Amino acid sequence: MTFHDLKLIKPLILALDKKGYSNPTPIQQQSIPHVLNGKDVFGCAQTGTGKTAAFALPILQLLSLKKEQTSKRTIKALILAPTRELALQISDNFLAYGKNLGMAHTTIFGGVSQNKQTNDLKRGVDVLVATPGRLLDLMNQGFIDLRHVEHFVLDEADRMLDMGFINDIKKVLAKLPVQKQTLFFSATAAPDIMKLANTILKNPISISVNPVSSTATTVQQSVYYVKRENKRLLLKYVLKDGNIAHALVFTRTKRGADKVAKELNSNGIKAEAIHGNKSQGARERALKGFKDRSIRVLVATDIASRGIDIDKLSHVINYEIPEQAEAYVHRIGRTGRAGSSGVALSFCAHEEMSYLKDINKLIKKNIEVVSKHPFA
Ligand code: AMP
Repeated sequence: MTFHDLKLIKPLILALDKKGYSNPTPIQQQSIPHVLNGKDVFGCAQTGTGKTAAFALPILQLLSLKKEQTSKRTIKALILAPTRELALQISDNFLAYGKNLGMAHTTIFGGVSQNKQTNDLKRGVDVLVATPGRLLDLMNQGFIDLRHVEHFVLDEADRMLDMGFINDIKKVLAKLPVQKQTLFFSATAAPDIMKLANTILKNPISISVNPVSSTATTVQQSVYYVKRENKRLLLKYVLKDGNIAHALVFTRTKRGADKVAKELNSNGIKAEAIHGNKSQGARERALKGFKDRSIRVLVATDIASRGIDIDKLSHVINYEIPEQAEAYVHRIGRTGRAGSSGVALSFCAHEEMSYLKDINKLIKKNIEVVSKHPFA
């Protein structure tokens, strides 16, 4: 199947050609026709499946076909995302796909001055991508009018709930018109997710790709048993492998992330930490350095890493095993994206064995154990 078959308009096809995408991914194939038809959609899909384009492309198409030439721009599409990184990535996608359509969009998120954001809003935007906290803040200050929203997307709803955004979401919903199209994406279909989905979707089309328990089949996974105090040595040891040009390393805590990055730097391995205590500027710099390959290792906590999309990321290293098995799936989902291959290594100390057991249960297989290493 091609993007032509999905009846996308020429300006979008041209933008996709430019991105080098030749075929739609499964979630795109399944959702684009329904979104173009004005249906509500419940999409069970994790980041890495191409879900951003699955909603961005048809929304852009619908907006461009309805575009009024004269009136002032009003917010016609609102996309809510849990983290600033994800919001920025969604915006980048809208920008890339919509570049031939003359649509104005902006991104709003906390942790930075609001001036640029409010200036953009005053000029008028068609598409607004936002994290909940700053959105409500600017709504309360009177900068945002949601009365003309026709398309509402709730992205990574599961993470939104994990992060305690439920009341913020409800406050935003209360300000949206009743008549609108709603697209709801979540990596899981847990009961609290379904409850929320059922309250906001009308006769939705359900689409499911790559449910969270089926880890990307393209990711080769292994686990190293190691004493906690030897993990830093093991990390240096595995990074000696020249094949690991680039690795995203996960720690459980922000302090842990800082410590690991510091240790790597003092051993001549260029690393940066990214987590919630870092300023927005520092986070963006670290991400940029990692993307342009001037930094070899990015050390991240789960929340900071949500939705991070790094082209051709080959390795994910779980320096600590996450307590929530689902987090493991999200972590390793940073690699092996859109069909490319990836490697995920996990360091498991004795006290983390029960977490590993939960993961094996969730993914319905036992991760292969690497027994030959100097710190076994
Ligand atoms: P997402 O799940 O939206 O975060 O997308 C994951 C990655 O796949 C991003 O790097 C996208 O740019 C890329 N991608 C999305 N759609 C396609 C496609 N049809 N072909 C190739 N790559 C894609």
